[in-house]
Amino acid sequence: MVNPASRSNGFQRPNFLDLSPADWPQIVESFGEAPYRIKQIAEWIFDRRVRSFQEMTDLPQAFRQKLDENYALRSLSQGGQERSAIDGTTRYFFKSHDGHTVPCVYLPFKDRKSLCLSTQVGCAWGCEFCASGKVPFSRNLSVQEICDQIFWVEELAKVKLDSLLFMGMGEPLSAYNTLIPALQLIRGEMYFNIGARHVTVSTCGLVPQIEKLALEGPKVNLAISLHASTDELRKKLLPKSSKWAVKEVIQAAKLFSKTQRTKVTFEYILLDGVNDSEQDAKRFANLLRNFVEKGDYMVNLIAYNPIPGLPYRTSPHAKMDEFARILESRKVPVFLRKPQGVDIQAGCGQLGV
Ligand code: SF4
Repeated sequence: MVNPASRSNGFQRPNFLDLSPADWPQIVESFGEAPYRIKQIAEWIFDRRVRSFQEMTDLPQAFRQKLDENYALRSLSQGGQERSAIDGTTRYFFKSHDGHTVPCVYLPFKDRKSLCLSTQVGCAWGCEFCASGKVPFSRNLSVQEICDQIFWVEELAKVKLDSLLFMGMGEPLSAYNTLIPALQLIRGEMYFNIGARHVTVSTCGLVPQIEKLALEGPKVNLAISLHASTDELRKKLLPKSSKWAVKEVIQAAKLFSKTQRTKVTFEYILLDGVNDSEQDAKRFANLLRNFVEKGDYMVNLIAYNPIPGLPYRTSPHAKMDEFARILESRKVPVFLRKPQGVDIQAGCGQLGV
């Protein structure tokens, strides 16, 4: 029932949210309490945001004591924060019990309050343009550590988040076994209760996991980092995930879109002189038109955010506009994403530690 690997709070007590909610009835019953206590506990954790079982004042004292002795409710601790003077984007750092830094980014958009979450410490996929890929992979974050990023940011920023982006440090689909239970808590009515269209999982194109998520995962949005229209260029930019050909990745996206009845977003970071030519745009448009139906996808063009020590440069505005125009002229639905938090190294691809 209790997964020993979930003791990520440093106190030899498992974190409560690392247990599956399917196990909660058994826990409650083992302490001699009635099933309705589960709803009470969930309300205290997700609505009233308590940090210890002792604060759950409508539970019997002996029950609170037993829960407290056996489980912890928070794992990450505060590490620091930095706020963009340009757009209010805030980069938060949290500390794990084993000394790792867990970054995440709060993005205050006009129409929504988003959090870009991390799923791993470091990243093993080593995409060439990404700061996270330069941080050596140590481990997956636990479900509790993923949830803690939400609890902490809502508390520190004094906001109610209504959109979650799994686009921080790490490849979420590599952490599949923690991603799925975390998504179940995020989506579940009794837990965070965030709608499917407000949760986006981003991947560098892990085909088997995209297919798995399509068929069995909770309903969410999917964003796939393509960044190249040929296998050769993809191999250069995303050396590890290029073991799946561009066409295979697009086919997996198609399956996802059909099964989950949602549009998949293809992410394309424009790198000056690397993937932003007229020929690149035409080839990319043809590839999409040949393999996916118009209603199944959209393209997000992203301005590259420079990272110290990496050789890539941002495409000039005129080139980005021209790239978008070529896609549009070929009836490819395209959106040019505005950079956020660049002055504090919290922009897309800049999330190191
Ligand atoms: S883009 Fe994503 S998968 Fe690639 S190195 Fe960065 S965090 Fe990892």
